[in-house]
Amino acid sequence: MSRQIKIEKTSTPKEKPDQRNLGFGIHFTDHMFIMEYETGKGWHNERIVPYAPLSLDPAAMVFHYGQAVFEGLKAYKAADGRVLLFRPQKNVQRMNISNDRLSMPPIDEELFLDALQQLVQVEKDWIPVEEGTSLYVRPFIIATEPFLGVRSADHYTFMIILSPVGAYYPEGINPVKINVENKYVRAVSGGTGYAKTSGNYAASLKAQVEAKDKGYTQVLWLDGVEKKYIEEVGSMNVFFKINGEVITPALNGSILEGVTRSSTIELLKAWGVPVSEKRISMEELLEASNNGTLEEAFGTGTAAVISPIGELRWEDHVMVINQGVTGELSRKIYDTITGIQSGKIEDTFGWTVEVK
Ligand SMILES: *Cc1c(COP(=O)(O)O)cnc(C)c1O
Repeated sequence: MSRQIKIEKTSTPKEKPDQRNLGFGIHFTDHMFIMEYETGKGWHNERIVPYAPLSLDPAAMVFHYGQAVFEGLKAYKAADGRVLLFRPQKNVQRMNISNDRLSMPPIDEELFLDALQQLVQVEKDWIPVEEGTSLYVRPFIIATEPFLGVRSADHYTFMIILSPVGAYYPEGINPVKINVENKYVRAVSGGTGYAKTSGNYAASLKAQVEAKDKGYTQVLWLDGVEKKYIEEVGSMNVFFKINGEVITPALNGSILEGVTRSSTIELLKAWGVPVSEKRISMEELLEASNNGTLEEAFGTGTAAVISPIGELRWEDHVMVINQGVTGELSRKIYDTITGIQSGKIEDTFGWTVEVK
């Protein structure tokens, strides 16, 4: 049974940004969803209100102990005017997996989906329609209880904010250059790698800064113990096409299970392209690069969808992949997923959810 969500509309709507020049995560819509949690009382006071800054106690536990989880998905407006979300149930389920790992309270899946749909419905005029654009949806939860002392908090705030976006990387569907990280690690077995939690990103920034200084857009993370096996790219899962077979690192507890990763695997299976989830080392990848069997490499994630990798640097080795241009399969996956997301291609998988 869905609960009543109060809606308070803004009296001062903002001017909408130019759809051809949105950037990513810069502009925010007129409204946001918010509700609170208290131990004993549960989630309550669910409402859609004008987008505005929060007021938090300086002792709010998120500032000190980092209990924060988030999600990311996209809404599209189809040519026939339908508003489509891409596999939102997956984000809801994953947020509860993250909540569990961070010792935070679960969210009722139905309430989350209802809030998501109602907010997107209120803001549907904000969904851009230019090629490559969409409305990015960012749900998140933070610990708000004012308390100093290490324990799980008793008060939380859940919010959903929306941002009309263009391409995540300035490169768009053009290949990015990636540095293989040899010093820092992102996650280890038994840690929080499989949870979408802010702390994982905080721990990754130094490596990203150092990669940028060397002229690389992103970091490819290796396993946290031997620094030998490939895990994932900054905010994306990673795939390699080697000698006709597509390989992605198997989920091992330190890798985030991406919705785009799952969708890519399902698509490849439907197309009859050999695809496997297994452990793959940098040595194996370098060998494939040297003997000419490394045909394509790409990252997958909601923000960029598919991001081809044109160059990988590992220690002194520079691997140029597919002459640094977007591969045929990468392009086909990108076109198919974005086609389904935006309603241009028939959704035979039942992935999209229409907002009514
Ligand atoms: C969000 C995220 C991904 C991609 O997941 P999608 O559901 O495809 O957007 C991959 N790796 C990390 C670390 C992430 O946070």
